[in-house]
Amino acid sequence: MRTLLSALAATTLLAGAAQATAIYPLDRATILVSSPFDFKIELDAVHPEAEIAVTVNGKPYAETFGAKADYVAEEKGKDDAVLGSALILRDLALAEPGSYTVEVRAGDETRTVTWEVYATPAAPKAKNIIFFVGDGLSVAHRTAARIMSKGMTEGKADGRLAMDDLDHMAFIGTSSTHSVATDSANTMSAYMTGHKSRVNALGVYADRTPATQDDPKVETIAEALRRTTGKSIGVVSTAEIEDATPAAVVAHTRKRGEKADIVGMFHDIRPEVMLGGGSAYFLKSDIPGSKRKDDSDYVAMFREAGYTLATNAAELDAARGSDAERLLGLFHTGNMDTKLDRSFLHQGTVGKFPNQPGLVEMTEAALDQLSKNEEGFFLMVEGASIDKMSHPMDWDRAVIDTIEFDQAIASARAFAETHPDTLIVVTGDHTHGVSVIGTIDDDKPGDEMREKVGTYDAAGFPNYTDADGDGYPDRIDVSRRLAIFSSNFPDHYETWRPKMDGPFEPSVQNEKGEYVANEAYKDIPGAVLRVGNLPKSADTAVHAVDDVVLQATGPGAEEFKGYMEQSDVYRVLVDAFALGAPRN
Ligand SMILES: [Zn+2]
Repeated sequence: MRTLLSALAATTLLAGAAQATAIYPLDRATILVSSPFDFKIELDAVHPEAEIAVTVNGKPYAETFGAKADYVAEEKGKDDAVLGSALILRDLALAEPGSYTVEVRAGDETRTVTWEVYATPAAPKAKNIIFFVGDGLSVAHRTAARIMSKGMTEGKADGRLAMDDLDHMAFIGTSSTHSVATDSANTMSAYMTGHKSRVNALGVYADRTPATQDDPKVETIAEALRRTTGKSIGVVSTAEIEDATPAAVVAHTRKRGEKADIVGMFHDIRPEVMLGGGSAYFLKSDIPGSKRKDDSDYVAMFREAGYTLATNAAELDAARGSDAERLLGLFHTGNMDTKLDRSFLHQGTVGKFPNQPGLVEMTEAALDQLSKNEEGFFLMVEGASIDKMSHPMDWDRAVIDTIEFDQAIASARAFAETHPDTLIVVTGDHTHGVSVIGTIDDDKPGDEMREKVGTYDAAGFPNYTDADGDGYPDRIDVSRRLAIFSSNFPDHYETWRPKMDGPFEPSVQNEKGEYVANEAYKDIPGAVLRVGNLPKSADTAVHAVDDVVLQATGPGAEEFKGYMEQSDVYRVLVDAFALGAPRN
C-alpha cells in the first residue's frame, strides 16, 4: 500500500512539474470598470505567435481590448530554463461593464477564464472612508480586549468596545490564490485592489518569472482615487509604513520584502498623510540606521514634495495644529513599540524611541489633516502589533494593542458623528490560531502551573482592574488572568505569565538552523517545555485560515453581509465612492 501511494505521489509530482496554462487576471476576477490592469497569458510550451489564438466573448481579443499584446517567444525561469511562450498587454482597461470570457488556444493547450467587469452607482454614498485593519485580528483578541478593558460581571460584559457596535457585519475569507493559508501582503492587497493574489504579493498577480516587479499589475485603491477623484489619501500604521499592510494601499511587487522600492511607490502616489515607523528605508545608505542600499534620500524627497516631517509625538502635535500641506510621520526606524511598552512597561525599544505617538494620536492627526479636503478622503489605519505580538504568543501585548486599536476606532466614530458621510470599516487581514479558554489563577492549589488553569466553572472571572478609567487594565500581572493559548507553536517554554521584561521570544535558532525553545525562559518558576507542532523552520506561531470578522457603519456599510471573499470588500469601497460611475 505504502509503495503504491508513493508511486502515485511521484506521478502526481511529475505531472505537477509542468505549469498549467495561465491567464491573468484569474478566472472569476471582478474588475472595476475602466480600471487599468495587466493582461497576461502564460503558455506551457513554446508556440509560434501565429499558433496562439485568443478570443474575448468569441471575437479576436484585440477587437475588445483595443490593442495587441506583446509576444514573448520564450519566457525564462530559474537558471534560464525555458517556461513557455507568453502574451502580455499592460494597462488594459475595460470601459464596458459585463462578463468577459477569455479563451486561449495554442496547439493542444487551452484555457478559458471569465471576468466580471462592474460599474458603480453614479452617485457616491460616502465622502470619506476610514478603513481599520487590526493585523491578525481574531475573535479571541476582541473577546480578551473587551474583558480586560471593560470587565465582566455575572457573565455579562461591563462595557462594549467601540468596534462592537458597528451595525453591519460579514465573515471574510482570507485564502490566497495558491494556498488556503495567507499573509498580510496578499490579504490586504485583496482589500485594496479587489483581486486575490499569492502570499507575499502586493498589487500584482504572481506570475511564473523570477523578476518580482514585472508581474501583471492590478490597480490599487490609491491609484483609482488619483485617477477618478480629488480625494486625499492617508496611511497610518504602528508598523514600518512600507510593511506589507500599509504598502498594499499603493504597492506593486511580487515580494513584500522590497521595502526600499516600496518607499519609492509611496513617493509616486504621495498620500497626503503617512504616519508610522520604518524610517530606515527612507534614509540614504550612509546615514546611520539606514537600510537602503542607494543614495536616495526619501526624507529630503518627501520634504521637497511639500511634506512636513514629524519624528516624535511632540512634532506630530505641532504639525497637527499647523497649516501643513502634507504630513509624513516617521517615529521609529523599524516597527513602533506596543502600547504596553510605550505607555506602561517601557520595555522593547522605548528607551531608544521614548516619545512615539500612539495609534489614537496618529489617527486623530490624520483625520484633522485629511478632513481639510472638501472632496473627502480615504484613510487606512493599521493596528500592526496585534499580529506582530501574536506571532511570538505575547498575548498581553497583542490584547493591549487591540484595546488601543479600539480606542482609535472610537476616535473615528466621534469624527463620523460630525461627519456622517463617513463609512467606517473595521476588519482584520487574517486571523491567528488563538483562543481564550478560561483563567490562570496563581492562588489555585497545586505545584504545577497547569493545575492553576481554570476551565469551565472553575475559570471564574479574571481580577484585572481599571482604577484610572483609561480603558487599560492597571496591571496585567494580576493573580487571576485570562488563559489565552495558541493552536500552533514552535518549541518553547510556556511560562503561564505576562512577559514583563519585553516582548516574548519563544524560540531561537540552533546551529542546524532549526528553531528550538529559548532557554532564557527555562528557569521562570513553573515554566514547562512545550514541544512544537509546526515545522522546525517556524520561529513563531503562524496565521490561521479561519475567517475574519468585518464590521462597518455609515453610508454603504449595508453592503457588508454574510460570507464575502476579501476581494469583494473592494467593490463595497469603490461603490461607496462611486469610483466606477459612468463618466462623460
Ligand atoms: Zn503575521
